[in-house]
Amino acid sequence: MRRQRPTLIAVSTLITVTLTTAAPTPANAQRAAPPDQVTALTAHQADGYTTLAWQPVNGATDYQIERTPVDTDNTPTGTPTIVGIWRPNRQINQQAPTFADAGYNPGDTFQWRVRARTGTTEQPYSDPVTATTTAPWGNPTTPGEQLRTGWETTHAAQYTSDTDEYAYTAAIDALSDRVRVVELGRTVQNRPINMLVIGYPSPAATPEAVAATAPVAINCNVHGNEPGDREACLIMARQLAFSTDPRITDLLSHTTVLIVPTINGDGRANNTRGNSTGQDLNRDYSLIRQPETTAYITMVRDYRPVAGYDGHEFGNSRAGDLPMLPPRHQNVAQPIFDQSQDMIEGHMYAKGAEAGWWACPYGCEGGGNVGLSEETILRNTLGLKNVTNSLLELRSSGGQTRPDEGNTTNNRRRKTYSALWTFHQFLDYHRADRADILKARSEAIQTQAANTGRLVFRGSRPIPAHPAPHPGDSPPPLDAPPADLILDNPPCAYKLTDAQYNGPRTDGPGGVGTTVAQRIAAHGWKVITIGDDHYVPLNQPERGLIPLLLDGKGVEKLTDGERVYPTLTGRRNGPLTVTGFTCADDATINGPVTVRAGAALVTTATTISGPLTATRAAGILLADSTINGPVRIATTDTISIIDATIAGPVDLSGNTTGTDAPVLAGTTIRGPLSCTGNNPAPTNLGIANTVHGPRTTQCAAL
Ligand SMILES: [Zn+2]
Repeated sequence: MRRQRPTLIAVSTLITVTLTTAAPTPANAQRAAPPDQVTALTAHQADGYTTLAWQPVNGATDYQIERTPVDTDNTPTGTPTIVGIWRPNRQINQQAPTFADAGYNPGDTFQWRVRARTGTTEQPYSDPVTATTTAPWGNPTTPGEQLRTGWETTHAAQYTSDTDEYAYTAAIDALSDRVRVVELGRTVQNRPINMLVIGYPSPAATPEAVAATAPVAINCNVHGNEPGDREACLIMARQLAFSTDPRITDLLSHTTVLIVPTINGDGRANNTRGNSTGQDLNRDYSLIRQPETTAYITMVRDYRPVAGYDGHEFGNSRAGDLPMLPPRHQNVAQPIFDQSQDMIEGHMYAKGAEAGWWACPYGCEGGGNVGLSEETILRNTLGLKNVTNSLLELRSSGGQTRPDEGNTTNNRRRKTYSALWTFHQFLDYHRADRADILKARSEAIQTQAANTGRLVFRGSRPIPAHPAPHPGDSPPPLDAPPADLILDNPPCAYKLTDAQYNGPRTDGPGGVGTTVAQRIAAHGWKVITIGDDHYVPLNQPERGLIPLLLDGKGVEKLTDGERVYPTLTGRRNGPLTVTGFTCADDATINGPVTVRAGAALVTTATTISGPLTATRAAGILLADSTINGPVRIATTDTISIIDATIAGPVDLSGNTTGTDAPVLAGTTIRGPLSCTGNNPAPTNLGIANTVHGPRTTQCAAL
């Protein structure tokens, strides 16, 4: 469900209240708390953090949170330390202040007190509360649960090494039926890029079967020197693999969780931001010049996650605990932007206020010129691929609000356990809002395939400031598109020469994924080849991303494709035989249409009255179109039918389309649907069709 932002309710009438009794006098005035003392302090334990909550004090400017280590007799064993500062911009509801204290050794016992400050005046401390914190997850004597990462066993003194990661995830795989570890590819230095595929009671067997579960994906570590999220992912993998908590098994019964701990294993091993070539991989997800980004994007193509998080750390010590940001590029379909914003501001801000974590927009508190529209950034790439998703930053240092984090291990633990909280919240959001996420995705794909509206080569949607006092104080910059990077009249397709399409490239490490053809295939776009020309139509689900790589105006492009505009528009009567590459837009064609062998038809906003027949055609791509008659497509190379209405019957037979399955999605067919002998079988991309007649074998589930 999409949640609305809280709004102030204007009270238009004055309500008169008559006080009839004086306030009661406390039975023993000496026991009453001083009016400025914090009362009702509670400490709730969770994985790696403690949520402190208390009654607000009138007039408080901020609060200080004090923690003291104690032994089992409540005798202090260390120095009382101010570990947290609560400020009003931490959370959306001021009447129930909370603070997530983290950065201690999980399992240790502490006493906490909280006091208000009025300006610089310190008010009395609350009564103390004492509790033992939650030990690292998993019974130490239960197989599987007993596994620990290198980071956990060293008490955050060392990050989990590459070899420790492989051994740990292999052990999880071996001990849990819920987990399958797959290798997505190899880094430049030949380190495995692994992904945990997690489902209950066991994960679906193939990528296509996983895709049918509307999976979620967490990318844990792209910048090698930002390792906090990766440690959270490894702990979470153990929880998902072995927990008997009904919440976990319920989550995993309804979706598949995809966790990629380390896409940048070389950078992690060397503690560098980029990979071993120096490339910032989070500036490469569209261009996919590197094997690491190619592995991830190919995974997105094959497993089709519907939602994602991308883990980072952020050097601005004034920012919130957890800066987040949706895909902002203006070519991202509106429903995906809205759903991503709902996940962040609707869910994370609200849940953060309950748990005590300070989520805020990336760039909050003077974060600078960050969070822009580069499509090379995974957040934007995924948005352009119709994935509801967010960036996650972990504030690198403690800053003024966590003054105990000059202690390195305390700092590392706060970051990792705040990421663990976020990733669990991400799963809960997907569980609760799955229908809305899928609706947004379906609408986005159909909107994109309709190929309407301007194209923007760079430029972001604004992120409005969240209502005060929550920090929208300084949301990321506007980043409006400049006029010269806007194309008001979108082409139908880009035409690439064979040299552009198949020619070797020199913009990646030698010997890896070097042609445009290979990169387009990794993105999963449909290409129509006629002779030596290669056409990439825009009536596809990733319409907003295609021009960024293939148009001459692309800021970080692969090549300068030729814009191809529609040649068939308006009304046309009589039989039509299609030869060559023909694009129809906003056309009405009265009469039978025959697509010749080796020819291609691409339509948007077009109505054909009469049968549509294609045999041995180069391609048929129909979107947002109506066919008043039967459709028969046989032995054709490239097929996509999205958001069409067809009188029917529809027959797809004997089409051999390589690795690129025919798409039939979001289409209404008023008649039978027959699919036989297609290799591979058609897919609906998770968008069901409405078929009024019978459906045969290959299309039975479409
Ligand atoms: Zn980063």
